[in-house]
Amino acid sequence: MSRIKVLPDLLVNKIAAGEVIERPASVVKELVENSIDAGATHIGVTIEDGGKQLIRVTDDGLGMTAEDLRLAVTPHATSKISQEDDLFNIATLGFRGEALPSIGAVSHLRIVSRPKDCIEGAEIVVSAERIESASAAGCRPGTTIEVRDLFFNVPARRKFLKTNATEVGHINEQVARMALAHRDIGFELTNNGRSTHKLPGGVGIRERIGALYGADLADDLIAIERAERGLHIEGYVAPPARSRSTPAGQYFLLNGRFIRDKFVQHAVREAYRGLMEQSRHPVVFLFLTIDPSLVDVNVHPTKIEVRWQDSNMVHSQVLGALRDKFLRTDLTPALNAGPPAAEAGAFRRAVESADADEMRRAAADFFKTMPPRTADAPAVFTRPTREGGAAAPQAPTERTPGEVGPEVWQALYGRSEGTPSGSAVHPPFEATAGKGDFAAGIGAGYERPRRALQVHNSYLVVESDDGLMIIDQHALHERIMYDKLRREIVDGPLESQRLLLPETMSATAREMALAQEHADLLHQLGVEVEPFGADTLAIQSFPSILKNVDATSFLRDLLDRLAEKGTQTHAEEVIHDVLDMMSCKAAVKAGDPLTAEEIDALIAQKGLVEKSSNCPHGRPTTLRLTINDLEKQFKRK
Ligand code: ADP
Ligand code: MG
Repeated sequence: MSRIKVLPDLLVNKIAAGEVIERPASVVKELVENSIDAGATHIGVTIEDGGKQLIRVTDDGLGMTAEDLRLAVTPHATSKISQEDDLFNIATLGFRGEALPSIGAVSHLRIVSRPKDCIEGAEIVVSAERIESASAAGCRPGTTIEVRDLFFNVPARRKFLKTNATEVGHINEQVARMALAHRDIGFELTNNGRSTHKLPGGVGIRERIGALYGADLADDLIAIERAERGLHIEGYVAPPARSRSTPAGQYFLLNGRFIRDKFVQHAVREAYRGLMEQSRHPVVFLFLTIDPSLVDVNVHPTKIEVRWQDSNMVHSQVLGALRDKFLRTDLTPALNAGPPAAEAGAFRRAVESADADEMRRAAADFFKTMPPRTADAPAVFTRPTREGGAAAPQAPTERTPGEVGPEVWQALYGRSEGTPSGSAVHPPFEATAGKGDFAAGIGAGYERPRRALQVHNSYLVVESDDGLMIIDQHALHERIMYDKLRREIVDGPLESQRLLLPETMSATAREMALAQEHADLLHQLGVEVEPFGADTLAIQSFPSILKNVDATSFLRDLLDRLAEKGTQTHAEEVIHDVLDMMSCKAAVKAGDPLTAEEIDALIAQKGLVEKSSNCPHGRPTTLRLTINDLEKQFKRK
């Protein structure tokens, strides 16, 4: 890094001006990036009151002289680039020279710094853009930057800051992104006097992921590597069973910088196609390295987006790297099954070693842990009936036709209430009296099904008065569930069930904060969670309707949704969104075999849901084909 100089006007204009400082987390990002650019090996981040009161970043990097300090707080002063060509060949995180002056304009900023070869350090204090003082200071080599009272002079901005817990969540996320990219550097985060993260430097990717997100996930990741056409890709990708409901678990790091990129994201989605539901998002960590001249990072003020010289190449390389790995190894059985962590780890190791025999053995061991299914269908190749959980046993096949067991009610309505267990119950449309809430629901809209047939365990073909209907079983059931939940939530919290043993979930600070912040909403949904130590949530109660759904993965998805939606939308919208998700999870899936009784029960409910031709996601639930259409097709008319 060379000395600081003011950029020529022309170059200044080339750099689009933009808002860099939005919230405490943006300050942390800019300061830590500067420390990284200064060659630090250890970076300490201290915050108080969510960073609103104080943000302090300390490093052992290059340091600055008194003269440097004055320039550092001057707009468009940077030591990182000096001519236009440099803009297209950026190897540092910073280059725009706007972070420190921007921060100095909206806070009380104090910098103390000392280059290694100077015996004395220097200090500068800036408040609302004005240099308050500049003096000599005794300090260790390196730099400490303190930002106090962020936005004290911009009340509008300050008002928009969220609770301390939420702001800490954002800060954690920023630090995690930088820590993922720079494993050679040690990081320590201190929040209100308590050390919350201690990440030793000089570690590998898997180790760093483990330190940030838990060894459980890190151990499960599948390593991917490819270097072709000038792009080096190193990836650590999670099995589909770890998918999330938002892309929050996707980390793309390009040349040491966290980016969001639609090409890379799309390539990842493509690679996982068919391995998980389309609405899910895989958890992936991708580290891309490319010649800096082949990518423009100066398209966004916080540099989170980039412009590729050849985006098609990037897309096809990322897709190829993942797909090759997935194809070379038969992932499907274990991946769909949502394996428990230990077995999954063994399976992952076998997959990585790509040794067919070992893989078969690991898979066999793994499936021994699963509950038995029907005698002759090998469990390995049967889809689990509930996402994320172990395969639930199907309704026993030996039951006489027309008999409905409690598990049918369970599957369709999430509770076995109103069904005398074990006794024969006739198909709902014939036995409406006294059958609990199901019977109560049968009214004017009730359609008596004629003949129904399930095809490919996904669609129901039903005779209707004027022809036939083809029903998407998942879409219809989801719609029914959604309607039911929407009606129920109006009357108070959803029916919930207290768990005998609370289920624990390891949670990030952000997730802890979200659970706390949205406790009322969670209660409304029938979910009770309590903090259990600093980084664990204990699920005490859970909605009855989701009895077959894995509680931790549901809660994680729910918190993801709240993180994504909670801050910007109305409570009603959030509830709608969450009910949507709950009904999707509670509903039978495409691929679930249904008994004749389950099919009948489903169709009997069809008439009850208004506008039932669309599932909550807007896909149609039913296609109709009239006799007239058929006759036309067969040229009878
Ligand atoms: P940029 O990072 O875009 O150059 P900044 O406003 O963030 O702009 O920083 C201005 C300059 O201050 C940097 O170019 C660098 O020379 C110097 N600087 C900032 N932080 C540090 C630090 N922690 N250690 C050494 N130098 C720093
Ligand atoms: Mg900078």
